[in-house]
Amino acid sequence: MKDLGRNLLKYRRHFHSNPELGWMEYTSAVYISKELESFGFSVSRGSEFMDMSFAMGLPSKEVNNVAFDRALNVFSYKELLPFKDNKTAVLASFDGGYQRTIAFRFDMDALPIVESIENSHLPFVDGFVSSNIGVMHACGHDVHMAIGLGFARLIALNREMLKSNILLIFQPAEEGVRGANVIINSGVLNGVDYILSSHVWSNMPLGKIVCSQNGTSSTHKFDVEFHGKSSHAGISPEKGNNALLAASIATVNLHSLVCEFNNVVRVNVGRIEGGTARNIVADYAKLEIEFRSQFKDVESRLVERAQEIIKEAAEGQSCSFKLVKQGESFGVEGSRELASVIRESAIEDDYFSDIVLEDEENRGCEDFTSMMGFVQENGGEACFIGLGASIIDKDFLHHSPDFDVDESIMLPTVNLLFRLLQKISR
Ligand SMILES: [Zn+2]
Repeated sequence: MKDLGRNLLKYRRHFHSNPELGWMEYTSAVYISKELESFGFSVSRGSEFMDMSFAMGLPSKEVNNVAFDRALNVFSYKELLPFKDNKTAVLASFDGGYQRTIAFRFDMDALPIVESIENSHLPFVDGFVSSNIGVMHACGHDVHMAIGLGFARLIALNREMLKSNILLIFQPAEEGVRGANVIINSGVLNGVDYILSSHVWSNMPLGKIVCSQNGTSSTHKFDVEFHGKSSHAGISPEKGNNALLAASIATVNLHSLVCEFNNVVRVNVGRIEGGTARNIVADYAKLEIEFRSQFKDVESRLVERAQEIIKEAAEGQSCSFKLVKQGESFGVEGSRELASVIRESAIEDDYFSDIVLEDEENRGCEDFTSMMGFVQENGGEACFIGLGASIIDKDFLHHSPDFDVDESIMLPTVNLLFRLLQKISR
């Protein structure tokens, strides 16, 4: 066990100092696949199973090339090839021909944040701060990957105790809810009876565990491009079609949807660009938009209304428009029965001092809910577990430069997952 604890720390710190953005988790993917193979799992690399036609929010070629070249400093081209072109997922399986298949998902991506180099920031002080400047594991996905590998080790050592087929899914591009659909549509979740994932929270007290977090919302992310016609703003503005105006009208009207839906939804036009100069009617404008809501049916209506508003705004200025979906997930509720088994498994360890069966707390969006929804629709059960991992007297915000969690959460979590696996495996 001591050995496992040491390995978890080694993994976490390795990933923390080598963060990579979504769809570009190249070194992480090679590292993970090699470890899993050394434990005896049968390992599939991204290009062997991912259906990239469902990928959303891919990086530009230029940005991707920089990330891939960076990975080439660490691993050989041959090692990286199966993950090339953003196919950075890893799948490990133990198939014993059992009836039941139990899947676990671990996310891999980091965020575009410059990590703190203050003396109060442990990763800096202890020498495992990000070596990829401008990219940081500021949501704990480094901890998730470490837990995934530690869990895999434990499974490999105790394989004979389990009576189920096991799938370990390392998923790229969780941030922006962009990656899950690629995994779902690859077919690897077909026939899965149970799917589980967990998330560490820097703002939840250490020792607290929520067996089923039901507060993740539905979300859609879109880019909208308006195309019009430029003309002289003084001599012949009437000969132009003002794309910037279309985008502005759309922005204002989209935000009015919050009121239309009685304040139960979130709408944000977070970025706007367009036009060329003050004396030219703009022929181009672009919006980056997101929508969130608690219920699937509300979300569908919200997106429908948004599309109407965008269409009206474009037509009002005789512009054309193009809507590109950049991310999507639907909030779902975890299984009550499975949550009770998680609680039973947590009770067996004193580390978990505050065990909550389920809660509805708003935790933003989570790509995993798409996988949960898929497994549930096919007769399986799913839960998304919340793990308190706050550092005493600190309340670090997720997605901020000084984000950090208490690393001691990893070993009890791995043991918890293993006990849970024993309980549901037959
Ligand atoms: Zn996260």
